[in-house]
Amino acid sequence: MKRSLLFSLVLLAFIGLACQQEKSVSDSVSEKSENSAEEIVAIVIHGGAGVMSRDRMSEEKQKEYIAKLDEAISKGHSILRDGGTAMEAVQRTINILEDSPLFNAGKGAVFNHEGYNELDASIMDGQTLNAGAVAGITNVKNPINLAYEVMANSDHVLLSGSGAQEFAKTRNIEMVDTSYFATPSRLEALKRAQNKTALLNWEDKKFGTVGCVALDKDGNIVAGTSTGGMTNKRWNRIGDSPIIGAGTYANNATCGVSSTGWGEYFIRLAVAHDISAQMLYKNTSLQEAAEDVILKKLPEIGGDGGIVALDKDGNISMVFNTPGMFRASIDKNGEKTIKIFK
Ligand code: ASP
Repeated sequence: MKRSLLFSLVLLAFIGLACQQEKSVSDSVSEKSENSAEEIVAIVIHGGAGVMSRDRMSEEKQKEYIAKLDEAISKGHSILRDGGTAMEAVQRTINILEDSPLFNAGKGAVFNHEGYNELDASIMDGQTLNAGAVAGITNVKNPINLAYEVMANSDHVLLSGSGAQEFAKTRNIEMVDTSYFATPSRLEALKRAQNKTALLNWEDKKFGTVGCVALDKDGNIVAGTSTGGMTNKRWNRIGDSPIIGAGTYANNATCGVSSTGWGEYFIRLAVAHDISAQMLYKNTSLQEAAEDVILKKLPEIGGDGGIVALDKDGNISMVFNTPGMFRASIDKNGEKTIKIFK
């Protein structure tokens, strides 16, 4: 009798333990599947807006641009998909575009009036609203990386010129000779811009700035922009790209935006911040806000260009009022889009 009681107790304890274990396994499975359902990632990039049209750009050139956009967007997405941060994805994606002579950022940047390249960049973290930017730098290989250092390791938001470069030396940032940025086609473009009678081609009328906005699995949005500015710019002109709120903006509560176009107009309209503010104050969708700013307000004051953006739910917008914009995205369903023309 005693023995059978003991046996029953042991059996009950064993069954209880087994049930407990099964419960904890199934809890963690359902938690995991809930998480992965919530874990959306998305990324969007641009390589500048402008008057490019199919008949003016050779097929070979189109293929070159598409291949580079593909390489950049795929790199950024793989970082996000592997659990990396949006901060990492934006920088590494922009680095690929900065290193390509096809775009007006890093190598291949446009020339200023004096015949050298002055670079601007900015980055913003939508979780903390921290931001970093650099303007008018001439020796930093990847300006977006220095913008990140300003954000992460200085008390400031925007550093310029020689001071920014002094700071770069303290942060182990890769420096290059000014000649690294120079490319023959941009030099030709400068000569055409300075010779008032020269015939301008499509490349002269395109903004080749690069930008990226990413949403990571933790719901953090980061936006970044990098540029050489505008051909023949003078007097240490600074455009919208390093201006937080104009060329770049990110807020986890709304969206992230990177701009490309005639910078003076983007600064005057605080384009990137206006899109976020409309979402916050008027509860409009990202697409509606972007169309209002880029298709209505910008042309009204004579500006042209476009933006790429994504919102906190991973919806993507690529809006421009020029004939084309180099752009690519991988949305929350993993679907890839790469386009140049309308
Ligand atoms: N927005 C840049 C600037 O004005 C130019 C560009 O988008 O290419 O400096």
